[in-house]
Amino acid sequence: MDRDADDHALEALGSLSPALPTIARHIGCAHRLPRTHGRPPDPLATLQPDMPTRSARKSASQARLERENTHDEIYEKIFVAILEHRLHPGTKLVEERLAEIFDVSRARIREVLARLAHEQVVELFPQRGAYVAKPTIEQALDVFEARRLIEPAVIRRLIETLTPEKLARLRQHQELEMDARRRDDKRAVIRLSGEFHSLAAELAGNSALARSMRELSVLTCLMIFLYDAPTTTSCRADEHSQIIEAIARRDAPRAERLMLEHLEHIESSMKLEPATEEVDLAAIFS
Ligand SMILES: [Zn+2]
Repeated sequence: MDRDADDHALEALGSLSPALPTIARHIGCAHRLPRTHGRPPDPLATLQPDMPTRSARKSASQARLERENTHDEIYEKIFVAILEHRLHPGTKLVEERLAEIFDVSRARIREVLARLAHEQVVELFPQRGAYVAKPTIEQALDVFEARRLIEPAVIRRLIETLTPEKLARLRQHQELEMDARRRDDKRAVIRLSGEFHSLAAELAGNSALARSMRELSVLTCLMIFLYDAPTTTSCRADEHSQIIEAIARRDAPRAERLMLEHLEHIESSMKLEPATEEVDLAAIFS
């Protein structure tokens, strides 16, 4: 794993940590990245820095608040690590190890893993434990079908309820994404480009759409890691800005069309051919 990229990601994570609850609402991921070769010896070790320190004595309400923060913080750190491809699909999330890293009980870790499992980011297996989800090709095709239905609706609603503040939020986010591209900070690019979709859903003001979008974005992120075709070119950097400009002009048909084309580009950059035919084992081994 590239040390520099790792340091960048950790730096970015550190500087973002005060804003984590906000990020949580519009996290997602929708772009491909060049794959890094090899794995760190312990993928969970990337979660280690920036631990909260706990004082020994505190009031019951402080303790309660701290417990909730810790739950959210751990959740966010695991979620962001998955989004930034620091934790790969299929990685085992060992309870004892996470409890050690975050200096909390295994029961707390179980709560966090249950929440991630509820959002389909993590899979829980009886007797075997928790693993970062590995969406199948069928699930991947379902995710894109859902995104094609939801995202034009998100764009329509966003244009109907557009305010200068909402537009400013979108442009601000786009600036962050462009800045990460200029710095060639691949992990920030993959996270920020996905967050764009969840942010649009959040700004559209429908909480059910926003929740679905967040889930679909993180699943897309896992799918990109699993099914990204190495020969395809990556999602064009200017597609989000074109969508934002169409939104700014309140041109709903154009914005919806651009969004559908954008999704088409992401989907077509993946290898998603379902295995529908019977495999002829004799032919394979002849
Ligand atoms: Zn996008």
